[in-house]
Parts: sequence; C-alpha cells; structure tokens
Amino acid sequence: MSSILIKNARYVIASLPFNILEQGAVYIEDNRIVAVGPTKEIEARYNAAQEIDAQDKVVMPGLIDAHNHVGECHMFTLFGFLDSPLTGIQDALERIVWPAWSWIPQEAAYDLEMLGLMHLLKSGTTTVQDCYMWPDEAGRAAVDSGLRVEVSPTLVTSLKLKDSKGPEDDLARTEAAIQRWHGAANGRITYRVHPSSTYNCHEWFLKECAALASKYDVGIATHLAESVDEVERARAVWPQGEVRRAYELGLMGPKTLFFHSCVLDDEEIALYAETGTSAAHCPPTNSMLGNVARVPAMLAAGVNVGLGTDMPTHDMFKAMLSCSQQHTIMPREIRGLMPWTPLEMATTKAARALNLQDDIGTLEPGKKADIITLDLSNNTRLFPLTREVLITFITVNGTGADVSDVIVDGELLMRDKQLLHLDEAAIIARAEAWTQEFLTYYKGKVERGEPLIERIHDEYV
Ligand SMILES: [Zn+2]
Repeated sequence: MSSILIKNARYVIASLPFNILEQGAVYIEDNRIVAVGPTKEIEARYNAAQEIDAQDKVVMPGLIDAHNHVGECHMFTLFGFLDSPLTGIQDALERIVWPAWSWIPQEAAYDLEMLGLMHLLKSGTTTVQDCYMWPDEAGRAAVDSGLRVEVSPTLVTSLKLKDSKGPEDDLARTEAAIQRWHGAANGRITYRVHPSSTYNCHEWFLKECAALASKYDVGIATHLAESVDEVERARAVWPQGEVRRAYELGLMGPKTLFFHSCVLDDEEIALYAETGTSAAHCPPTNSMLGNVARVPAMLAAGVNVGLGTDMPTHDMFKAMLSCSQQHTIMPREIRGLMPWTPLEMATTKAARALNLQDDIGTLEPGKKADIITLDLSNNTRLFPLTREVLITFITVNGTGADVSDVIVDGELLMRDKQLLHLDEAAIIARAEAWTQEFLTYYKGKVERGEPLIERIHDEYV
C-alpha cells in the first residue's frame, strides 16, 4: 500500500466555494483520499510513507478539462498562414481544423498526444476529456502520462480521415476500442463515443453511435450549436433546430455531453435541463469565432455546465480567466456568474459532465486522490491572499506556472514543478519533429494546388 501525507498547507480547498481549511492536511492511501483536516489532527492519526510539506502552498482538487483535442497542437501552426480573419465555424473547419485532422499519421499520434498531456499535467489539469483520432495511441499515452483521460476519438462520415475505411468499419473499431480502453489503468481511462458533430455525420450513423454508447453504458458527446452560422445552416435543413433533432435522434440524456452549446434559445436550454444533458463551455475558442454561451441562463435553468479549453495549447487557468472575462462583458441583463463559478465549472461541474462526480472534483474522504498544489512563495499574482478572496484570485489571477505538485489517482506525478516520470525534453523534441513534417506536407499540398481534405459527402444532409 502506498501512502502520502500533504501537511501544513496554508489553505486546503476541500470543496467549493468556501469549504477551506487553514493549516490543513490531506492523507492518501493508494488512489483514495482517506482524511482531510487540520494538520495536527491528521498527523497524529496517520503515518505516511511519503510526506509533502505544503507550507506556503494551496492544496486543491485537480482541474478537469471538459473538452480538449489533446494531440492536435500541430493544428495551431496553420494560424500563421491565415490571410484573412476567420468568419465562423465552417471557415475555421475548412482552413484550420480539417487540414490538420487529415494529416495525423499513426506513427505521429502517440508523440503529439504525449506533448498535450504533459502540458496539461504541468498546468494543473488532472483529468481531460479528449477528442482525438487514434484510440490506441491516445490510450497508450493516457497510461504513460499518468493523467485521468476520457478517450473519445473523433468520428466523421463527411470526410475521409487518415485511417477510416468507411463508417461501418469506424463503428466496429469504436466498439473494439470501448472494450479495450473503458475502465483501463485501474479505471483512470474511460471512453465516450464521439461523432464529431450532428451536421458532419449521417443520421443513421448518429443513431448507431447512440446505440453503441447505450450498449456499453458509456457517454456520448458531440459539438453542438457552436456558432451562429452553424445554427442558421442547420435550421434551414432541420426546421426543429439542431438541439431538438439531437433529442429526436436519441442523443440526449445524463450521459450526454454537448460541447460549446453557444447558440441556444430558452426552450433548448430547458431540454438540456429536462434530459440531464451536460454542456462543455469552451470560451477560448468560442471567443475566436465571436460566440458566447448563455452560461448564466443555463446554470439558472439547472443545466450542468463544465469548462473546457477545446485546444491543447491552452490550460484551465486560461479557460477560467476567459470565462470570467467573457461573462463580465455580456449585456447587463444576462450577466450573472459569481467570481468563483468558473472554478466550480473546472472541478465539480466538469466532473459531473464526465459522469465522474462520485470520484473526483472535491477533496473528500473516499474520493480518488486527484490533487494539485499552487506555490505561494514569492507569488505576486496570488497576493495579498486572504481566505475570503482565495477562490476569486485563483480563478482570475492564477496561471499554470503556479502549479507546483500534481497527484493523479494517488500517484505523485510532479513534485516542486519537476516531472517525476516523463522526459520533458524528449517529448518536446519528438512533437517538434512531427510538427515540422506536418508543415512540409501542408506547404507541399498548397504549392501543388492539391486539396487538403477528402470529402465523402456534404455536411448538413
Ligand atoms: Zn472541439
């Protein structure tokens, strides 16, 4: 049995918003939290094999990214080739996302994924919902990184992705991947079926995805109502709107996670609440395309809204700041986030979005030990710190660089900002080499005038 005692913490955030202990301690056995309380009391009761003195540190639940594309950092090099601003989701897909998706070779997949997971680990994310291409490479990287990962490879019928042999084969391989990865690594890896969006997959395929998720009792997720241009195009084809159509196709329920959900009317928000469907709010990418989700209205209606980055070059601190800023510049009548709400969305609400609320999101006895510490020594960003302002400061002033220690599933992965299991320089070098290969491929295609994506059928059919 392994055991860790984190003691003398200036603050322990046990749960949000205000269950905060001063001079607190957390005792962990194997992968579970056994006790949380005052250091004197916990120290007297337990003997740990390993101790972390958290004097001048904040101890808090690990952050949970409710939506990311972890292995796709190469995509962001394409922003350097833009010759005009992006106009909406379709434009972003055509010029940035799909050309990057169409490249990822199997040999590159693990290395790119490891870079993204390492970045998340260093910046305090302990669980990530990950949409990627290659299930086995994503699964292997999840095992090796030590993070808690929801593997959910992207499925599309309108495009030819690198390894696809057609939608029937994609479904068969998804079923095999669920059997292989759901519950793997002592439950650290879970699986979610992920048709990319309701407009780039055939209707029969969406129904098959829902049936597959139901058969294995795993989650289902898709990008939905992300952008005004998407919603307008969808309504021209499906007069009931994208959300009502998703409901009719059997896609909504407590194990459903819809990414973005920016453009929703009151009735659609009510449908999320009624069915227990969660949303992953991703303000960094929504801002880029000029969209703001009605998060205060969604929360008021009882919808569970987690927070996500949607991109591997971001981290959850940036997402929390972005969330705070987006919603303070909303028109006054639709504002309404408390300063600590983004941190709740990055912990307890994101945990619920991934159906992991019984295991993670707070520091309570019985929960899995996913814990981070923030370094307060010589820290002018989190200063002057009081118990009352702690959560607000972390939400708006904290950065990934403040993260000092990271524990996932009871395993110490980073200590005093040093990664204990990963060779950081080697991971960066391999990802850098693959990114250069991608740029050579991309520039060659552009020079030769070759298409960057292979279309199988139109979207919105
Ligand atoms: Zn996305």
